[in-house]
Amino acid sequence: MLDRRLIDGNKFNQKLADEMAEAGYDRIRACIQCGTCTATCPAGRRTAYRTRQLIRRALLGLREEVLSDPTLWLCTTCGTCQERCPRKIEVTDAIIFLRNLSVQAGYMQPGHRGVSHKFIKTGHAVPIDDEKWSKLRESLGLSPIPPTVHSYPKALREVQKLLKKTGFNKLVEYEGDE
Ligand code: SF4
Ligand code: SF4
Repeated sequence: MLDRRLIDGNKFNQKLADEMAEAGYDRIRACIQCGTCTATCPAGRRTAYRTRQLIRRALLGLREEVLSDPTLWLCTTCGTCQERCPRKIEVTDAIIFLRNLSVQAGYMQPGHRGVSHKFIKTGHAVPIDDEKWSKLRESLGLSPIPPTVHSYPKALREVQKLLKKTGFNKLVEYEGDE
């Protein structure tokens, strides 16, 4: 049964479902809550994450609850739920869309923010910014630095310019000079 206080407090509304429909995920409304997504989800086997519940909350319009829920980030985007959903709902894609909304709403996880900042600084989400990695590469017969933006400072500056222009720096609350 719905909690009357939530209804009176206007926590339920169709805005989130409408946003999803407008973005092309209108099939979410065809969900029959069968639970196949939850049953098949590898992330749910190890954590409190429940795909079916997430979809239900989104349909109920619990926007803040959905977007602020840290379990939203436990999905591995493996795509199994999407392959097996009997209503052909693009579950994985919808979860990625919800994550985008979550970040736009300011709920980015600290670890993800840290990776984003590294990406802005180095052009890599997983940079070779430690001598031990260069040494490991050399021990494997590789050049100490890969032929990516690590080796081409001009390319890095271009990446940084693009990130700034597209508003990525602002989105991830990066305050450096790059
Ligand atoms: S598998 Fe599809 S229909 Fe079933 S609960 Fe998940 S999203 Fe809904
Ligand atoms: S895509 Fe995400 S929600 Fe779907 S089964 Fe894989 S981990 Fe679970």
